[in-house]
Amino acid sequence: MGDNGWRIPASYHRWLLAALGTAAVAWSVVLLPSGCQGSGVSRSPSLPPSPLESARAPSSPAGPVVAVQPKAPERPKPPALRPTLPTQEPVIRVRVAMVRNEPIVLSHPSGWLFVKPDGEAAGRTFRTPVSIRPAAQGWSVAESGDGASRVSVAGDGPLHIEPMKGWNREIQWKGGDWPGDATLVRRPDEGGDAADLVFAVPMETYLPGVLAKELYKGWSDDAYRAQAVAARSYALCEHAWWAGRRHYDVVAGQASQAWIGATADATSRRAVQDTAGQYLMFDGRVVPAYYSSCCGGAPASATEAIREGSWMDIVPLTVDGREDARPRGCCEKAPTARWKVALGTTEFARRLDAWATREGRKDLGGVSGVKSITTAEENAAGRPVSFRITDPRGRKVVWDSEDLRYAVNAGASGSKDSLKSGFVAPRIEGGKVVFEGRGHGHGAGMCQYGAEAMGKSGRGYRQILARYYPGADVEQGGTGSVAGASASLPGGE
Ligand SMILES: [Zn+2]
Repeated sequence: MGDNGWRIPASYHRWLLAALGTAAVAWSVVLLPSGCQGSGVSRSPSLPPSPLESARAPSSPAGPVVAVQPKAPERPKPPALRPTLPTQEPVIRVRVAMVRNEPIVLSHPSGWLFVKPDGEAAGRTFRTPVSIRPAAQGWSVAESGDGASRVSVAGDGPLHIEPMKGWNREIQWKGGDWPGDATLVRRPDEGGDAADLVFAVPMETYLPGVLAKELYKGWSDDAYRAQAVAARSYALCEHAWWAGRRHYDVVAGQASQAWIGATADATSRRAVQDTAGQYLMFDGRVVPAYYSSCCGGAPASATEAIREGSWMDIVPLTVDGREDARPRGCCEKAPTARWKVALGTTEFARRLDAWATREGRKDLGGVSGVKSITTAEENAAGRPVSFRITDPRGRKVVWDSEDLRYAVNAGASGSKDSLKSGFVAPRIEGGKVVFEGRGHGHGAGMCQYGAEAMGKSGRGYRQILARYYPGADVEQGGTGSVAGASASLPGGE
């Protein structure tokens, strides 16, 4: 719009008229001296898990092992069928943080941001940085600078924040540039001062910031391209799964897939552009293309590693019944191909019991110690699906391998006493459970280290995807404006 950033944008007057003219608009202006913000104890933003994603999720090769645990509030039912090939570029809602007891400070190079109750037309333009936090009722929005004002927004509804029309669409937060409009959503379930920060970002603009964090610099273009198609397909499925049921589709982190916001990384941007609008398809619908860092030489079926259900129970994500289930040559050279962790048997039993109690799993609780632990079942690739644990009193319980991993990691203090995967051969030795482990992550779908090994040896991304999602095809869907810092989006809703 050619605004030099110092004049009051026209939308301010629109807001003022609306605010003065109708009592229905949930805004009230409270002019306060600048620097009058309340102070509070700050905590780092955190990414607590949400039910589905955290239980089973892709993991980054670069990311630490994070112990995450789901709680399962009741929700409307998800759609029965996977999404079809999109004809337009979808907008993905990414939760980048849940912020507690700390203002969310947003900025923009223009010096202005437009703030309004979500779903309403009227709002107000604030000089940035603008500091927003949940208030006793509604929101408190404070701008910076001389004559700065603080505005109270009544109502517990979400707050929508967007750059002025004509400016680039990236909002600055915590030293990063985040594309898309922002929404703040109160989280009363997490306390009166908690809010989620969610960015709604067009798919092709979203993806480069996924790739830049999910893969290592220097990996091959085709590993990046395969990752782009997988990440796009995964995000679309999460988008379809959560539509109308939750205020975000994915989180920015290991619980879904990594996202660093805008990135200048040329390899990531090129891989997204090269594959723009391409989705992994099976049986006429998009595949939730799970992936993990390192399969350890034996992949998992998605129904074992992610969740039950028809979305997962498809050929490209299933190991059993495949003649080629055990891959020849995959991720042997990955640093996490083999590892070892030992835990005291008492500590191990304590973690399992704590997890079982918290999850309401009476069938798994009440274990007094560990006398023996053996593999109960393996899949066709040779990856353990479950373990049988016998305690000193003779009680026997069978743990799914991924549940076991989550239970152990929920009580872990770091990578030294946590399991990188559920692909373990446990044994009891000298009062400890010794886990000889393989791989990193849940093991379903694409193996990132394996993809890179293929890419480096000259295989194309379609070959990589064909190997890790057998039976699936890459198909061309619709695209909007492809990634770019100044990609123009319609303003408002
Ligand atoms: Zn592998």
